[in-house]
Amino acid sequence: CGIFAYLNYNVERERRYILEVLLNGLRRLEYRGYDSSGIAIDSDLDAVEVSLKEAPYESAFPLVFRQEGKIESLVGSVYAEVDAMDLNLEKPFSVHAGIAHTRWATHGVPSPRNSHPQSSGAWNEFIVVHNGIITNYEVLKETLIRNGFNFESETDTEVIPKLAKFVFDKAHEAGQTVTFSQVVFEVMRQLEGAYALIFKSPHYPNELIACKRGSTLILGVKELTDISNSGALFHDVKALTTNGQPKELFFSSDLCAIVEHTKNYLAIEDSEVVHIKDGCVSVLKFDYDKEKPASVQRALSV
Ligand code: GLU
Repeated sequence: CGIFAYLNYNVERERRYILEVLLNGLRRLEYRGYDSSGIAIDSDLDAVEVSLKEAPYESAFPLVFRQEGKIESLVGSVYAEVDAMDLNLEKPFSVHAGIAHTRWATHGVPSPRNSHPQSSGAWNEFIVVHNGIITNYEVLKETLIRNGFNFESETDTEVIPKLAKFVFDKAHEAGQTVTFSQVVFEVMRQLEGAYALIFKSPHYPNELIACKRGSTLILGVKELTDISNSGALFHDVKALTTNGQPKELFFSSDLCAIVEHTKNYLAIEDSEVVHIKDGCVSVLKFDYDKEKPASVQRALSV
């Protein structure tokens, strides 16, 4: 019953470090109760080179790890699978987006298959972690099945990444290019219920989108100053339109998983869509009645 994400931008972080930040985020959210957990990180392009030839994108294939039970059993299975895949834990990423989830099952028994992240299908084109309940998931599921989608879980959540792929494919078939936030806006338009969501997609590498309605969601921003510039670790208050400065960004269901990294945070409001792209954060306001999202000015709390 918690979501967490970590994105490093313009600062080298090894895969082992990225994994630990994600798993540690889940450990901090443990007190909220859960029955299963999972994370998604990027693979090395060459590690899955052969199968990637048929992939509908050129960026790294996102790997999804899920496990029933304790966070520590997820930790064990992540390291075992990483090892079996021969993924290099020391590999540095100057930018990488990872997402994580602890689940409190509402629809579908606790099992690896029903755990999050939930995916759009074989290529993990859209992957989602969800906190809450989608009340109209049955109607959405029927429509998606009619449109050729196969469902693998009993969760209400699975309609979300599949809807994202449906929206994305429709736009592409029509010859249109869509931004990640446009895809998420279309998805939100269809969803009913309460949710906090984080989206990751290899069609939009190194970007993350988070949005919410009902459930709590916090953004943490840790700006890493140029070492030659000053000794300060991060700025006090910063407008959310930032430049290419190195930084680490976090999403969490609770501030308690962010404070060990930074004191700069933003409590995301209902219907806000937070888009991280090229290390910049934009906050957009979703409005059911409007075609286009409005951009909102927000400052970080310290
Ligand atoms: N309703 C979703 C599920 O059962 C999410 C539950 C949660 O908030 O952990 O998978």
